[in-house]
Amino acid sequence: MKLRFAMTAPPTSAPRAQLIHIEVDRRLGHEWDEWNGRPLPGGGDFSAAPGLFFRFAALTVAAATAAVALLVYLIGPRLGTLWTPVPRILWIAVGAFAVLQWLYVGVLAASFFGGWNLLPERLMERGPYLQLMNYTSLVARAFGKRDWVEHAAIDIYNTLAERRGRRVGKGELLVLIPRCLSKQALDGVLEIAGRYEVPVFVATRGQLARRVIRERRPRAVVAVACERDMMTGLRDVAGKLPVLGLTMQLPNGPCRDAALDLDQMERWVQGLVGFRALKQEPENAPAS
Ligand code: SF4
Repeated sequence: MKLRFAMTAPPTSAPRAQLIHIEVDRRLGHEWDEWNGRPLPGGGDFSAAPGLFFRFAALTVAAATAAVALLVYLIGPRLGTLWTPVPRILWIAVGAFAVLQWLYVGVLAASFFGGWNLLPERLMERGPYLQLMNYTSLVARAFGKRDWVEHAAIDIYNTLAERRGRRVGKGELLVLIPRCLSKQALDGVLEIAGRYEVPVFVATRGQLARRVIRERRPRAVVAVACERDMMTGLRDVAGKLPVLGLTMQLPNGPCRDAALDLDQMERWVQGLVGFRALKQEPENAPAS
């Protein structure tokens, strides 16, 4: 933030109050409210291997099971005074809950690393996985690993979603970008969108993004955002609509001059609208 001071007091008139202009060089998204102004680690590139997510997901499942077990341990005996079998039923439920969670993480890992989605999308990347991503992110925050774990979670989500091989018409795809892209990144996005004739919207806030989606009713979305914003967006939208989420690098800190992988974006847009969108008739081509 720059402060610019200006004193405008003509010699003949009474002294005037000092005018202070506050020039805000960026507007932070609420996800970055606690940013301390220092450069982000790794130059704002939070790339991480998928294994990091699975390790934290396992920790999350263990913590959730332990929390539920503790609750049953504390209240089970009291409930047992009302009806003797209650503690036993509760412990069986805790066991089933734990088994289901571990099974789910196992199937997820087998799908991701095995190269074949073992569950339909409603039970995987557009279903419980979105909740698992969010709870895992909460646990990762406690270890100061939030952005890396979220990056890995989003990569896994994208891999699973891409494998569905979805195709939509040009007018049915929407590209959503944030307000913080660098000029170079923005130019690149507009060029790709122009080449494949897909509409692009700048979503300054999540609320606005959801409104655009409601009004345009796309059948698929390619969204660009930082890991923190993408997690919120996926949680709110991916259950209702197929989304591919491209994360960015933040070399100058959050919410300004963000860079992104334009080749990846083009591959996704091309994959969704089909290869034919690339074809351009050569000028003066003889009519067939
Ligand atoms: S997407 Fe950009 S503007 Fe939005 S919170 Fe992330 S860094 Fe800030």
